[in-house]
Amino acid sequence: MPIYDYQCSACHAEFELLVRQSTVPTCPQCGSTSLERRVSLTAPHGTSRAIVAAGRQAAAREGHFSHYSAAERAKLRG
Ligand SMILES: [Zn+2]
Repeated sequence: MPIYDYQCSACHAEFELLVRQSTVPTCPQCGSTSLERRVSLTAPHGTSRAIVAAGRQAAAREGHFSHYSAAERAKLRG
């Protein structure tokens, strides 16, 4: 279930809400439904970048610890 950051257009209160499809989000301060959705906390921009960075690090590690050492590769080449 997604959690979103909202700012109320009426009273400018900022708050987080769990959003269900069947419910209309309302401001807990003034009850207004005129809300501006700001940031999804389930998938923040920084998190996906961190996942990509971790993937690249893993790939770099696998490259470093490949099946053959430099000496073995030299032997294979003859
Ligand atoms: Zn409000």
